[in-house]
Amino acid sequence: MANIEKDSQHVSSLDEVNIFFDRAAERLSLDQGMRSLLKAPWRELSVSIPIRMDSGEMRIFHGYRVQHNGARGPYKGGVRYHPEADMEEVRALASLMTWKTALADIPFGGAKGGIQCDPASMSLDELNRVTRRYVQNIDHILGPNRDILAPDLGTNSQTMAWVMDTYGQIHGHNPACVTGKPVELGGSEGRESATGRGAVYTMAEAIGDLGIEMNGANVVIQGFGNVGSWFAQIAAEHGCLVTAVSDAKGGVYNSKGLDIKALFTHVNDSGFVDGFKGAEHIANEELLELNCDVLVPAAIDRVINAQNAGNVKASLVVEAANHPLTPEADDILANNGIIVLPDILVNAGGVVVSYFEWTQNLYQYRWSEERVNTELRDVMSTAYKAVKAESRRNKISMREAALIVGIIRVARVVEMRGFIP
Ligand code: NAD
Repeated sequence: MANIEKDSQHVSSLDEVNIFFDRAAERLSLDQGMRSLLKAPWRELSVSIPIRMDSGEMRIFHGYRVQHNGARGPYKGGVRYHPEADMEEVRALASLMTWKTALADIPFGGAKGGIQCDPASMSLDELNRVTRRYVQNIDHILGPNRDILAPDLGTNSQTMAWVMDTYGQIHGHNPACVTGKPVELGGSEGRESATGRGAVYTMAEAIGDLGIEMNGANVVIQGFGNVGSWFAQIAAEHGCLVTAVSDAKGGVYNSKGLDIKALFTHVNDSGFVDGFKGAEHIANEELLELNCDVLVPAAIDRVINAQNAGNVKASLVVEAANHPLTPEADDILANNGIIVLPDILVNAGGVVVSYFEWTQNLYQYRWSEERVNTELRDVMSTAYKAVKAESRRNKISMREAALIVGIIRVARVVEMRGFIP
């Protein structure tokens, strides 16, 4: 299929994620056989999704599901709706999920899904049809003990309600087949905010270690969707001064701090952050280069790269998005003394509360939001401390340390299972 082929010059997300993996594997002196086994996805599915558009035209979308590694439990990972979603990107994100669930020490493997489409240009009916046909086409590899979907870029709790309904039509009602559902349909309290909240909890731990006060810390955020907007709100509640945020259309900046509540009202009314009164317009590229304590990429992949990394002026970069830095950018920031908290640590809050949701569904019981948030904080703090200890012990970056912790845990259970006959 043309859209999953890559030319020899092109460096894909997967190539880059594998560079990060190889560095950690090398440090661990991991055996070559185990290295190959841990890098290769265990199962990949590519499906055609024909649907009738509202106009009456028939269109075929491409959908993907990659189950990267299931050694620690059922495969787990979000589904992304984006015009550039393809097999290579989904493979890269699935591999990050394997290390993320292992680092958070929750009983899941890693997976990811995607549909190549532009959700912003599609009606709710069209999105419902695309979702249903996607689930029907990959249904044979899904299930509460096999592979559990969740929201990601371009999908939300409504999408997950359609997933649950479609799966239920085939197998009978089973809310544990998907997480990130609306609370009324068995979703967990606190799931919607979990990724942003977990990221703020992690930032708070790191900022303390750097000797920066949370109260008044200057924070800049790219992306104002699920992760970015919750991050902004919760960081502001913790006393941070959020001075700039952006979305796909551009950003807004106020050196004295944005009124986040008023910004939410503006976004609800207009759909975008741009045009918010009491702030000046700023382009996404400029936002990444602002003078600040903390820079939070919370939108799409590879936004900080060899071209702009040298201009980043933050003391701390908090990777709320998946794979927002290329390996070159990672090296440049390290040389410039900028600490990077890696994606597999920072944005694990989403899958951690997905684990709580799955557990509640299996027990047919509900936790309070307070309990969810308290347990989330404990898991994030334990993971942060494990990464910090590894980083200090070996004098390595937080990214390499996080991958090492995850890789050791997965490699250990691969051997215990004895499934390499
Ligand atoms: P979302 O679709 O809710 O929001 C994405 C945001 O990014 C929107 O504000 C959008 O306008 C903005 N954006 C899109 N293209 C942009 C561009 N070119 N420049 C600047 N901004 C742009 O998605 P989300 O769920 O918030 O996910 C954001 C990131 O966080 C992704 O990398 C995703 O994989 C990661 N993530 C999400 C979750 C989750 O629970 N939703 C969990 C873990 C990781």
